[in-house]
Amino acid sequence: MEKTTKAIHTPYQRRDAYDALQMPVYNCMAFEFDNAEVMADAFCGRTDAPDYSRVLNPTVTHFEQRVANISGAKEVSAFTSGMAAISAMIMSVASAGRNIVTSRHLFGNTYLLLTGTLRRFGVETRLVDLTDKEMVEKAVDENTCCIFLESVTNPQTEVADVEELSSIARTKGIPLIADTTIVPFTQFDGKSLGLDFQVVSSTKYISGGATSLGGLIIDYGNFPEVSRLIKKDAVFNFGGYMSPQAAYMQILGLETLDVRYSRQAQTALEIARRLESVPEVLAVGYPGLESHPNHEIFRKLYGENAGAMVTFDLADAGECFKFIDSLKLIHRATNLFDNRTLAIHPASTIFGPLAEAERKAMDVKDTTIRLSIGLENVEDIWGDISQSLGK
Ligand SMILES: *Cc1c(COP(=O)(O)O)cnc(C)c1O
Repeated sequence: MEKTTKAIHTPYQRRDAYDALQMPVYNCMAFEFDNAEVMADAFCGRTDAPDYSRVLNPTVTHFEQRVANISGAKEVSAFTSGMAAISAMIMSVASAGRNIVTSRHLFGNTYLLLTGTLRRFGVETRLVDLTDKEMVEKAVDENTCCIFLESVTNPQTEVADVEELSSIARTKGIPLIADTTIVPFTQFDGKSLGLDFQVVSSTKYISGGATSLGGLIIDYGNFPEVSRLIKKDAVFNFGGYMSPQAAYMQILGLETLDVRYSRQAQTALEIARRLESVPEVLAVGYPGLESHPNHEIFRKLYGENAGAMVTFDLADAGECFKFIDSLKLIHRATNLFDNRTLAIHPASTIFGPLAEAERKAMDVKDTTIRLSIGLENVEDIWGDISQSLGK
């Protein structure tokens, strides 16, 4: 079955009392049992009957099953946000005295989690160039607990070869974990790329209309002890399980994800091509462009459609601010993969609280503007970009 068909036709675990066509929102925290024995079985995990909605809820379970059905994962766990999923993932794989091999090109809060928060718990983070195989091999030692990467880094648009990283991880017997927020799991087969776990901010493409926060761990079942820690320790003890309302919104988003992704990617490619021909634009970052240094590797791993994130560079920060302030249709906002087109200056906002030296080390330039291309007509989007560039 094709992925959109799967997204829509994943069967329900049980029929709803009223045979509702869409999964109802089970907006209740507790569930009743016929007798003490059935109750004990549920609480001890001997059956999968829900008992309390911090750890199991039918609407959330159905969302997880749809994602598992599309992605081919063994298990999926849904969390309150992308960061809740990432921290649950890392806390399930790391422990004091061990280290994580990753890149400087990371989402801001992931960077702070790995290099700040986790250091207090005795976990070391090694920042290397993940596109340099020898450097990665050298950084991994007997205390390394995982290799962590972002499939397309934001805002640098770097694409590392996950198949190469997977072969290093396999040799060392450690998991390869990828944050695949920027290219959704409908576009590639994580298992055949050699990913052991994907973490996703489902706030972005899956929600689509910026309706709800959410995060996912997509687990291929290659590290059963880590899987157990995610499902038991992390979900039960950290308390970051997704809410039924968010799961409902995200089930709806999932049904149109593939259609939205291909339309947004096609518009983004056209906008990126046009930006390349503007003299004031000094560089364009979009892996779908033939001129992008990682274009071939992107195509090999994730296919023809290269997503909705496009970056471009102007002469200086002042020019970037002028461009953003002149926009009339495009919104000044931070989200990614919204149905609306959005613009932001990453260096002064998302990475604003970091020191300049840190931004420099992370290759976050104050000449870069990030666009998230929406579902509007391409000429309307381009019209606003070109009038703002002309100011
Ligand atoms: C937004 C984002 C996150 C964090 O997700 P939240 O849902 O905001 O917690 C993590 N990684 C990437 C790549 C993101 O874009």
